[in-house]
Amino acid sequence: MRFVDIIEKKKQGLALTSQEIEYWINGYVAGTIPDYQVAALLMAIVLKGMDERETFDLTIAMRNSGDVFDLSGIDGIKVDKHSTGGVGDKTSLALMPMVAACGAKVAKMSGRGLGFTGGTLDKLESIPGLSIALTVEQLRRQVAEIGIAIVGQTGDLVPADKKLYALRDVTATVDSLPLIASSIMSKKLAAADDVIVLDVKYGDGAFMHKPEQAEQLAVEMIRIGQRYGRKICAIMSSMDQPLGRAVGNALEVKEAIETLKGRGPDDFTELCVRTGALMLTKAGLDQGGRGLELMRDAIASGRALGKLRQMIAAQGGDPLVCDDPGRLPQARQVTELRSDREGYVKALPAMAIGILAMELGAGRATKEQDVDPAVGIVLGVKVGDRVAPGTLLASVHHDQLLAAGWLERLHQAVIITDQPVKPLPVIDKIIDISQG
Ligand code: URA
Repeated sequence: MRFVDIIEKKKQGLALTSQEIEYWINGYVAGTIPDYQVAALLMAIVLKGMDERETFDLTIAMRNSGDVFDLSGIDGIKVDKHSTGGVGDKTSLALMPMVAACGAKVAKMSGRGLGFTGGTLDKLESIPGLSIALTVEQLRRQVAEIGIAIVGQTGDLVPADKKLYALRDVTATVDSLPLIASSIMSKKLAAADDVIVLDVKYGDGAFMHKPEQAEQLAVEMIRIGQRYGRKICAIMSSMDQPLGRAVGNALEVKEAIETLKGRGPDDFTELCVRTGALMLTKAGLDQGGRGLELMRDAIASGRALGKLRQMIAAQGGDPLVCDDPGRLPQARQVTELRSDREGYVKALPAMAIGILAMELGAGRATKEQDVDPAVGIVLGVKVGDRVAPGTLLASVHHDQLLAAGWLERLHQAVIITDQPVKPLPVIDKIIDISQG
């Protein structure tokens, strides 16, 4: 097989065979096919696309390129969720204890934040003492004992994606549906979960700006997962404003804890309850359509918070943060931003707020940077809220003096208008395609 022929074939818009795709991925990981040839193929895929079978074959070739997250030996129905990323997205911290409290098994591998979007591992590590570096054996034991563990990556998972993603990033070949779907799903299928719920975001702070694009991506990923034998569906949710109110690591942990006490922001609570109900249904644990009720009861009874507390303790963290969030890292200073006018909040662009939080130190611009666990922004308002002069728009938690112009940029990001504005729905739709 000559790689140049594979590039030529895709240039003409023809479908690649399974063997050609495997030859590409294996050769690229082994270093026998150079970056410049793969870059040419990637661009041909961006321009000509891939059909469903090719996208599936690419996903599986990538999945098989390295270690897999072996969950065998863990009894029960293993569930996972994947969010395509966003600002203030602390869903795993609240949702996974909720579903674990209802009998699902959670052995979750999470990632770090990059750029303006946050990552679950950074949030978890803001809990004093907590370790995300468990061996597979420790993880198995923890899940057997308490039903839940959230950890960092174990082993060398999907090396093909690491290499390909880095190349796509510098060759303008990220924005291709088959490439995005195969990249995400190769990592999801490298873990042996029974049920996967995808939270596909759209909007200003999401990878996909338009709901139609997000829906296409969701359908593509569902098809891949189903073909591989997983029970899988998707929620499409808005990232036109940050999720909940807190943006920043310890601040988001605090908000997740508040949510598990029944005092969380409405949008975040709704997303967790509905996603969890869907997970229970897919896992066959919803006791005949009672998923929503079970999720609400997991909060009201304190069982979900109890699961989080157990998980924190098992991973070496301070479980008392669940009772006293004052034990989480605190920023040295809190600066308030208040409204100077009357009106209604029209927009709170998630990306701008994510970037401002990153600049405070809550996120990292490059992979090598450390995050400051204590800093971030807590919004006082959400889209649709009425404001008057003096209404608290945001509290800024910071350790350093705010950079010149920073507070003005935050003020500009909170867009206020004279006309009443409808609140934004958090969930656009649920995509659950029958398997067939
Ligand atoms: N996230 C991924 O993991 N891969 C992509 O290609 C895009 C977003």
